[in-house]
Amino acid sequence: MSRRARGIGAFSGGLDGLLAASLLSEQGVDVHLATFSSPFFDAGLGREGALQLGLPWREIDFTDRIMALITDPPSGFGSCMNPCIDCHAAMIETLGEVMRAEGFDFVFTGEVLGQRPMSQSPPSLRRVANLSGLGGRLIRPLSAKLLEPTDPEKEGLVDRERLLALNGRGRKPQMALAAERGLTYPPPAGGCLLTDPIYSRRLAALRDAGLMTSTNAKLIRHGRLFRTGPSSFLVLGRDDRDNTALESLSGGCYYTPSDRPGPSAVPLGDPTPHAVAASLVALYTKRLAANTLRVDTPGGSPVESPPASRETADRMAVG
Ligand code: SF4
Repeated sequence: MSRRARGIGAFSGGLDGLLAASLLSEQGVDVHLATFSSPFFDAGLGREGALQLGLPWREIDFTDRIMALITDPPSGFGSCMNPCIDCHAAMIETLGEVMRAEGFDFVFTGEVLGQRPMSQSPPSLRRVANLSGLGGRLIRPLSAKLLEPTDPEKEGLVDRERLLALNGRGRKPQMALAAERGLTYPPPAGGCLLTDPIYSRRLAALRDAGLMTSTNAKLIRHGRLFRTGPSSFLVLGRDDRDNTALESLSGGCYYTPSDRPGPSAVPLGDPTPHAVAASLVALYTKRLAANTLRVDTPGGSPVESPPASRETADRMAVG
């Protein structure tokens, strides 16, 4: 090989990414890893995976790109609000910019041909390479031998013989290769909220009401969501963790029981009538001593409210 190649990988911290990075590292490539974060996926597993491999790692905030893509994805959505083809292409394109700016030779991913019917079919893999503008500078080490040789392979920077020919949905070959290397990895999938049907229904409701901001996308990760008007919603915590997250994301604008423990609730969009918000807070406050609950309101006086009925809450629930 002529000189030490440098590659940067899109890395979520899953089994396939760990193996792809290992294969390149084992043949002497200077491997760097990048994990994208947004309201829908975070970088924690990527950070842990890079630590396990002992490779340089960075987090890239992808919020603006993914918010634009879920507003109008050129290649459409998957089965939920997941614009996988465009999202993936945008991630690779972003890494292509890093590659050019920092003198890397190529970008790589842990994609496996045929593993996901929509985003990892042969035409999808070609489309991502073309959409991202990377073409022959994008390597998929796990399926490389089933794909056209890339530029770094042709240039002798990467040894194609030491890459793999994996194909399809089965994960046994990857699990065996990980075991040989003593790698630990998280369970598959579940990392992106845009593939979650319940979360996607909530997000679509915000989008249709013109309220799909990155802060609102974070808020609806926590607790229950109620529609309180054509363009107004209430997010109400289910437990202490939700309540803490909602309070901190709300910038201090939330409902909560005045003098006993109970849920916090954050209004989104047009004002929600205090009486409606307080009635939902009362419904989910355990062991109400009286028929009404005193509830602190955002920026106003506390209100007394009886609990909403279950039927009313069910009718208002989204997702
Ligand atoms: S699952 Fe989520 S993060 Fe992954 S490509 Fe699809 S939209 Fe992007």
